[in-house]
This record gives sequence, C-alpha cells and structure tokens, in this order.
Amino acid sequence: MTTFKDLGLQSSLLSAIADLGFESPSEVQYKAIPLLLGEETDLVALAQTGTGKTAAFGFPLLQKIEAGTTTTQGLILSPTRELCLQITNELQLYSKYEKGVNIVAVYGGASITEQAKQIKRGAQIIVATPGRMKDMIQRGIVNISKIEYCVLDEADEMLNMGFYEDIKDILSNTPEDKSTWLFSATMPKEVAQIAKKFMHHPREITVGTKNAGAVTVQHEYYIVGGRDRYPALKRLADANPGIFSVVFCRTKRDTQRIAEKLIEDGYNAGALHGDLSQNQRDLAMNAFRKKQIQLLVATDVAARGIDVDDITHVINYQLPDEIETYTHRSGRTGRAGKSGISMVIVTRSELRKIKAIERKIQQDFLEKKIPTGIEICEIQLYHLASRIRDTEVNPEIDDYLPAIYDVLEGLDRDALIKKMVSVEFSRFYNYYSKTRDLGYQMSSSEEYSGKAIPSEGSVRYFINMGERDGFDWMSLKDFLRETLGLEKEDVFRVDTKDSFSFFNTEANLSPLVLETFKDFKLEGRRIKVEVSKNPVRNGKNRKRDRKRGRRKEGNFSSGKVGTGSRKRKKGKNPGFF
Ligand code: ADP
Ligand code: MG
Repeated sequence: MTTFKDLGLQSSLLSAIADLGFESPSEVQYKAIPLLLGEETDLVALAQTGTGKTAAFGFPLLQKIEAGTTTTQGLILSPTRELCLQITNELQLYSKYEKGVNIVAVYGGASITEQAKQIKRGAQIIVATPGRMKDMIQRGIVNISKIEYCVLDEADEMLNMGFYEDIKDILSNTPEDKSTWLFSATMPKEVAQIAKKFMHHPREITVGTKNAGAVTVQHEYYIVGGRDRYPALKRLADANPGIFSVVFCRTKRDTQRIAEKLIEDGYNAGALHGDLSQNQRDLAMNAFRKKQIQLLVATDVAARGIDVDDITHVINYQLPDEIETYTHRSGRTGRAGKSGISMVIVTRSELRKIKAIERKIQQDFLEKKIPTGIEICEIQLYHLASRIRDTEVNPEIDDYLPAIYDVLEGLDRDALIKKMVSVEFSRFYNYYSKTRDLGYQMSSSEEYSGKAIPSEGSVRYFINMGERDGFDWMSLKDFLRETLGLEKEDVFRVDTKDSFSFFNTEANLSPLVLETFKDFKLEGRRIKVEVSKNPVRNGKNRKRDRKRGRRKEGNFSSGKVGTGSRKRKKGKNPGFF
C-alpha cells in the first residue's frame, strides 16, 4: 500500500500527518500529490466531497512555498466563508512543524482591516472567498502579483454561486506563469470553460469513489409549476407502482388535504398529523406498517414516531424550512442496509434551497423530470404484465371456466393477451394521453421515437429485471457497469421497478448495450434489454396537449376516466399497485 512517505512528502509534513492520524493517502491524494510535487503543472482534479482534497493540494503547496519570507506565493479560492476557515485551519495543522508559515483567511462578513493587518505581517498563503478577495485587490491591500500557485477549490460550487466574473478579475491580477490547480466534484460546462481559458494543458485526475460513509439514499428533485404539485405527486406514485412512501407536507392542513385528495383519487393513502386523535394516529400507523397504506402523508412532527424499515421513497411535497428537517425526512428511507430515494417537488424559485441542502448533506441531487404520461403508461403496462404472470391462480374459478371459455371463444392467445392487458391499461392510457407534460421541457435526448435508436444524446433502456430480482438502483447500476465493462458515469438514471427497470447510457454506447444483452442469461433466465419507447413529441402536439391537459389533470376522481369510476373499488387502487 502506498504511504505518504512514498509520495515524496518532507518530514515536517509527515510528522503532522502522523499527528492527524491519517494512515494512508486517499485516492485523490496519491494521484495528485506526486504529480504536483514533481513538476510545475496545471491540474484539473475531479473528486467528490469528503475524498480528502484539502490535503491533496495542501501538502504539495506547503512543501513548495518558501517559508520565512513575506511574499504571498499561494492563493486558494473557495466558495464560502465556512470552507475558507476550514481550509485555513487544516493547512495550519498540516504546517505545525514548519517554522514561519503564515496562512491567512480572507472572507466577507468580518473586519477587512483586521484581515489586511494579518496579510501585511506576511502571508505566504491566502485562503479567500472570491468576493472579498476582489474587494481587497481593488483597495490595494493585497498583492498577488507574485503568486506561484492558485488553487480553485470546489470550482463547480463557486461558479454555481455566480463567482465567475470575480474569479476572472482575481486571476487577471496574477502572473501568467503560475500553476493553477482546480478541484471540483463535478465537471459542468462552466468548469470546463474555466479550465480551457485559464489553464495550460492541465493534467487531469478523476477519482471514482467516495469515502464518506456508504450512500444509500439517492436525492432527486423535480421542478414543477406551483400549481402542479399535486398532479406531480400522483405521477411520481404512478411511475413507481411498488411505492411504499412517506409524503411530507409542511402544515397539518395540507397534510389532511393531500391525503384526502389521494384517497378520493383511488390511492391507498392515509394522513398522520397532530390534529388527529391518538387512536386515529395509531390506526394510520398500523395500516402503514401492514402496507395497507402505501402513501402516508405526514407532518414532520407526527412522522417522528415512524419506525418502518422498508420505506422505498420519501416524497417532499413541500420542502421544510430547516435543512436539518430535510435530513430527518430523507433518513426515513435507506434504512437497515436498503437503498432508498428521497424526492423533492420544487418550484424554480426554491432551487436555492436544493443547493443549500446539497452543501449540508454533502451529496448531490439528481434533477429529474416528472415522468410523461407515455412513460407512466409504459411502466404500468409492464407492471401489469408481471402482475398477471405472478398472480396465483384461484382454484375457485375452476367451476366457471367452461362458461368463460364460451365467452372468449375464437380469441387466440395474442388477441386474448392484448385485450386482457387493455382492460386495465386503457384507463391509464386514456387519462395520460390527454394530459400535458408537467415541469419543464424534456431534454432533446429524451425525445426520440421508439423504433429509431438515436445516434446522439442519451438512450433510455428497459430491462426485465428489478426489485423482485433483488436489485435496487445502486446494485443494478453496478451490475450493468460490470456486465458492460463501463465506467461509473456511463450508466445513469437507473430506475428500478418491481419486476423491471430503466436506465440510460450515451447513444454511442447503445450498440454495446444491445449486443451484450442480445442472448444474455442470468441464472438461467433470459435477460432482455430494449430501447425504451418514448415517442417523439413535436412542438405542435405538445401545445395542444398542454391546453387540454389543464382541464383534465387531476380529474381522476370525477369518474370520467377510462373504464369507469375508480371509487367502485372502494379506495383500492387496482390499476396502480
Ligand atoms: P474534501 O475537500 O474532498 O471534501 P476534506 O479535505 O475536507 O475533503 O477531507 C474530508 C475529511 O477526511 C477531513 O476530516 C480530513 O481530515 C479527512 N482526511 C483527509 N485525508 C485523509 C486520509 N488520508 N486519511 C484519513 N482521513 C483523511
Ligand atoms: Mg474541500
């Protein structure tokens, strides 16, 4: 195993590392440190939060600067005051056996004169937020014209926060021949642009694995218009036929109202909030435990007592006021070694909150689209087929079979299957074929016809394996990656349903995917992968759908849908679950 010593670090640092209790370098550390110690180079390093990036740039930086002078040689830019202080603190710990190293933090919201004073005393390294740094440069109280190293830490986050112009200004005050080391968790276009514009042939490092605890909850958000929250919630439930979920609302009133609407619309839903009697709450909890209730709508306070292990989804119908509360909510799923999904329904104006939560939980959200009507129909259709396959035949029907054969006489197997499936399916189809899409437009990659496999963008696939085969989104992703010999990022949007799943790859990989699964067997079973059918919607139709949809959406309770009133079946939701 590689040790810190092997990486070429000097003894003063090795002693500090021993004090910190770091036993061996993390991946980003053993990849970056020798590289940065070895030559003067620019670097782009992609690594998730919690992978030890601070030391990856901190150790080489401390070894390379010259202590004992007053010249500022290193500048570290980081997005927030907290990170700025954290990095400063870490670097001070790393350099504790080094004489004459001064590291100064520069950030907004604190006395600028005090910070200026500290710099004047001589700071070889400045750790700064971009806004305050720019301010200090303009006032002439800091000189970065001689820096040799510039670190852009959490570059994606800085750009997200709108610091591009500030960074540009700051860099224009630095020497052309310095080395720039960029660290980022993700590589959006904006980061790539920075790398291109301000760096020279940067070396690149990508680190695959997080070492911050096993991640079992996937966080997703769905952007909708303010009035579309409820129809969006229904779609999320419809697109996940096996869902077993807590739906969080902010107020008792909303909780009651949403639960009632869901019940009226034929879902197995229940409410849990403080205005209910103890007895009512116990009833709801018991029904939920027995899975008679699949969507438990709850307030945060009432949900504290929920101790159910196999919740598949947490749905945030509205975001809570406190980030802390979000952590509690999402922690209801992904328990006892299972994976879970926490979904958030948000409006555009709430997106800032998502960013704040991401920082707090140190995990990224996936932006997902509310499933289209066609997608839901597809999911329901497969779900129905597998339900038919898995249904145990009731011996009581034997006596009636002769009469039934009479009725169905003349229908061959094909026709019979089509009709049988249509009985249930038409209800979804009739409803969803007339509704508009919710949320924002699909990306172009999602708009392709089922027949023609797109040659660019990404391709969505159907696979006939799912939760019933013991997969969750994580393990299915791993299985696909290993089977296909692909990298982690190559398989994405993995959605597992009970007996089937969906996933995406880039279009250039689709020949490989389809070829690999052409005659594929797993433990004797035929595994099928097909390109998911998702018809092209052109602009014209979409407009028309939208107009109609406005009237139709949310109409389930009217009894006009499909084959008749759903209430007939008394709150049961036969088509859905
Ligand atoms: P990042 O900047 O990638 O989010 P940090 O540099 O903040 O990660 O490191 C995350 C945590 O891991 C910190 O508490 C840090 O002290 C610790 N850490 C860093 N490197 C190591 C290592 N090699 N061994 C053990 N712990 C480490
Ligand atoms: Mg960091």
